[in-house]
Amino acid sequence: MERFDSLPGVYTLKVYYISRKLLLLSIAGFILFAGVCAGFSVLPAKQPVQLSDITVVVDPGHGGIDGGTHDNKGLLEKNINLEVGLMLRHYLVGKGLKVVMTREEDISLERFSTIRSSRYRRDLDARKKIVNSSGGALLVSIHVNARPKSPESRGTIVFYYPGSNAGKLLAETVSKAINNKVYKQYLKTEAARSKVMSSNLFILREAVMPGCLVELGFITNPEDKKLLQDERFKQVMAEAIGDGIIETLRQSHSRNSCLTDGSNPGSGIECCALTNIFHNFTRV
Ligand SMILES: [Zn+2]
Repeated sequence: MERFDSLPGVYTLKVYYISRKLLLLSIAGFILFAGVCAGFSVLPAKQPVQLSDITVVVDPGHGGIDGGTHDNKGLLEKNINLEVGLMLRHYLVGKGLKVVMTREEDISLERFSTIRSSRYRRDLDARKKIVNSSGGALLVSIHVNARPKSPESRGTIVFYYPGSNAGKLLAETVSKAINNKVYKQYLKTEAARSKVMSSNLFILREAVMPGCLVELGFITNPEDKKLLQDERFKQVMAEAIGDGIIETLRQSHSRNSCLTDGSNPGSGIECCALTNIFHNFTRV
């Protein structure tokens, strides 16, 4: 204080110098800000979602010699899975997405596998190969549930692989879409409300992209079985799954971030998949 009192000129000069620096910085900042604003003003506030570059893999479970679960009266899971899978493809293609199916007809896939193992294992191996060579961003596998000893069990369950954040997001979003679109119209009771669960399922574990497996309902429950034979129900269910997929893609776009916590081995791949989705979205 004493020094400044004895040298008032130096003190004044110093204050003036700082102010000039601040002024120059302010001008530079303003020019930069104006430039950024001008840049944004010629772009839309939010880039529209570009779905046309994105491929979704749809896997109708079972097929051919493998009927999946059944009701002992000729109703086979494989046929319900395929029907809903094809409806889902139609819906997604209508929204501009590309779709790869693991099967488009009533066939099992073991003939496409080269491993020496049981027919069941070879079928799964072929399914994995189709899924992983598809270039898909997301996988949805379609199945039907059964619990012969508890026929009261009913409702949709959407599974994700344990530890997969992206898979969990997809499963939760698909489940929410099912509850929004299907619950009020068809399911109605709390017991039939769609649930989300994690499970170490082969196709979710082996897929290089995030995925979920939808168990549409229980063939062993009378109400669910009726719905699984209702064409309109299957159509609305397929559309709900499709809405969940598209909403997941939108969310990964708006988050613009990696959705993995690095806790599972596949998370790096998932991160890449979702980062690629974002890049696709932002591409002009
Ligand atoms: Zn199944």
